Amino acid sequence: MSVTYPFAQREARRGWRWLNRWWPSARLGTDPLQQLRVDGRYVPVSIANWKLIRPMARRLLGSRIARPLTFAADCRLTVVIPYRDREYHLRQLMPVLLAKLQEQQLNYRVLVVEQESGGKFNRGRLLNAGMHYAAEASDYYCLHDVDAVPIVANYACPSQPLRLVNKLIGSQSKSQHTDYYFSGAVSVRKEQAQAANGYSNEYWGWGKEDDDFFFRLLLAELLCYYDLEGTYEDLPNPPHQQVQRRSLWSPAHLRRNRQRRSLLLRGLLDPAEDGLNTLRYDVIERSGSADYGPAFEKIRVRFRD
Ligand code: UDP
Ligand code: MN
Repeated sequence: MSVTYPFAQREARRGWRWLNRWWPSARLGTDPLQQLRVDGRYVPVSIANWKLIRPMARRLLGSRIARPLTFAADCRLTVVIPYRDREYHLRQLMPVLLAKLQEQQLNYRVLVVEQESGGKFNRGRLLNAGMHYAAEASDYYCLHDVDAVPIVANYACPSQPLRLVNKLIGSQSKSQHTDYYFSGAVSVRKEQAQAANGYSNEYWGWGKEDDDFFFRLLLAELLCYYDLEGTYEDLPNPPHQQVQRRSLWSPAHLRRNRQRRSLLLRGLLDPAEDGLNTLRYDVIERSGSADYGPAFEKIRVRFRD
């Protein structure tokens, strides 16, 4: 698979970035995608935001990505949970998640992908490993944070990528999630995840890998939606992990991740060369759980290189 995006390189050179940053609402006028609302409940994730370079957003708005959201029955779901050192979150999440999946009568499995200890966390790699590992047994995935506990959530199989989270209860973060956020719990069909080549493997530590994934889906001409009614409880981190997280907010770290993301947007990185198809990993341990039943599996992975 080889995809290049020459238009992005050409258009990035024209500038506008300064204006976009300070005056985002002037960029695109009204976003015509917003008219694609389905059942008054599912809304396209806006691409009229400061994260997307303006010419690319315009091109996407005028292109073939405008497709309505529908749900399919009889699909096999794998909920993939990136994980390390969050036992107390998993214990709170699992009973509620399993009850929701059963109530919705889905054909589901839950796969927790644990990163071995040592080294920085890499959420993108864990999700890629999980999607690859579960590929044969899945028609679609729900990429699910361990600290997001569903209250109102629809885990059915969507025709376009769908963010299940909208309202967050008990959120510690000061900023409410804005409409271009694409993380937390996201359902995506297997072929679509593959078309975007999954996540980048190069985001270490906290942040930005989720924006990168959103852009990859857009570049694969997929329109992403979110569920207006989707409500989750955001579990608080314990003190020792907050310290870890704050250190990952170091300016140098965030700058690196932001730079990568902006390289992708400028067409200087090719998603086909970094993602699902290039991750090399080993499964070093597999286990089930007596508590969570036969649909639950946990794997521990080690990244090669
Ligand atoms: N995560 C984890 N262990 C860590 C850091 C992250 O298991 O040490 C996983 C976990 O699934 C978590 C997700 O990565 O929900 C996102 O991390 P975090 O909650 O710290 O980021 P935020 O939600 O604050 O962006
Ligand atoms: Mn979180």
